[in-house]
Amino acid sequence: MITEKNKINPLDVAMRQVDIASERLKLDPGLLEKIKHTKRELIVHFPVKMDDGSVKIFTGYRVQHNLTRGPGKGGIRYHPYVDLDEVRALAMWMTWKAAVVNIPFGGAKGGVQCDPKIMSLQELENMTRRFTWEIAMMIGPDRDIPAPDVYTNPQVMAWIMDTYSMLKGYTVPGVVTGKPLELGGSLGRFEATGKGVFITAQEAVRHLNIPMEEAHIVVQGCGNVGGIAAQYFERAGAKVIAISDSKSGIYNEKGLNISAVLDCKKRYSCVITPEAKMGEEITNEELLELDCDILVPCALESQINQKNASKIKTKLIVEGANGPTTPEADKILHDRSIFIIPDILANAGGVTVSYFEWVQNLQELLWSEEEISERLTRILRRSFTEVLHISQKEKVDMRTAALILGIGRVAEATKLRGIYP
Ligand code: NAD
Repeated sequence: MITEKNKINPLDVAMRQVDIASERLKLDPGLLEKIKHTKRELIVHFPVKMDDGSVKIFTGYRVQHNLTRGPGKGGIRYHPYVDLDEVRALAMWMTWKAAVVNIPFGGAKGGVQCDPKIMSLQELENMTRRFTWEIAMMIGPDRDIPAPDVYTNPQVMAWIMDTYSMLKGYTVPGVVTGKPLELGGSLGRFEATGKGVFITAQEAVRHLNIPMEEAHIVVQGCGNVGGIAAQYFERAGAKVIAISDSKSGIYNEKGLNISAVLDCKKRYSCVITPEAKMGEEITNEELLELDCDILVPCALESQINQKNASKIKTKLIVEGANGPTTPEADKILHDRSIFIIPDILANAGGVTVSYFEWVQNLQELLWSEEEISERLTRILRRSFTEVLHISQKEKVDMRTAALILGIGRVAEATKLRGIYP
């Protein structure tokens, strides 16, 4: 597991992916330069009152990578390792992702370098509100719409929405997505990313002839994406044999009771306790190398890399996380015929239902859960088919195919808009 930051720079990974795809697309060099650059970057250093009366300075970022196809869209991450290059890479992946599922958003991302695990709720609220004030000049329903990412949640979105609304003088629900339902959040948004991971996995197992009911699943990360995806796999009759959090993992070859593991995580802040005999403790490194049918990384970037790619024993990788696989690992896995559903397709359920939430907020509509589920499923299935088709036609792996689709759409839109003035 990568724990020390900067061992692998996510922006290098994102840039290399663009190079691989753009070679196939034969992009004009000027156009390639434009889409490789972020449009706007804001770095803020801001004070926060802590519970002990002291004042601490935090550093936060908001990056808009590309706004050609619509307003910026992308989560806000609270993590000690957040830095400018990570946020740039995540913003770039958002641009390609929105284009792959063909929704009218550009790509953006934000984050604050902090350790939310050692902060009180009050400190988190103070930090969120001040960060919102600092980036208020960049965000807005028709400019850039944040959402939850690692260690942020609907409560954080509620504070952002409230602070932004106070600044404007009226309630602006459309400034963020992933809000609580009571504040204009959409039905189905909380589970959308994990559900999307499952929907795309269903398409892949059908293509690969792997019976879902007999599949052994390994999930890294048990947060919003990993925890929910694991529940969907379990409900479909598959066996989730291992799952982890940042500290360790739990493994049971007979299959875990996911609700019990998630309950344990909620109560004791870990997936395994010495008393609970639900399975044996394993490290995150061991978890990634378990023998399984479907491996679902849902934690951080670069978890599957040159060091462990040859030891991965799975048929299918479904990337719930953003950027979990490096280009070196991609090549090794491709040579070993391991099928990958890339992040910009596998976890696009989140941005898709975020789009539904935004549409409902702007038009003051309320869609039913069935309507949302049906639209989400349709969009993800169509996108999977389009990517698979490109992969077969161009004889490239699924990531390159998805990038060809996403970058190709952004490039076309850029050409049509032209260069101002
Ligand atoms: P989360 O905060 O809800 O959960 C993160 C999970 O990762 C937790 O279980 C945590 O314990 C685990 N984790 C953290 N560090 C780890 C490490 N070093 N090793 C193993 N596990 C670790 O976050 P999330 O929303 O589930 O996001 C997970 C991933 O999915 C991120 O890459 C994020 O960018 C991506 N993603 C999230 C969404 C969304 O809608 N939330 C959408 C698309 C992509």
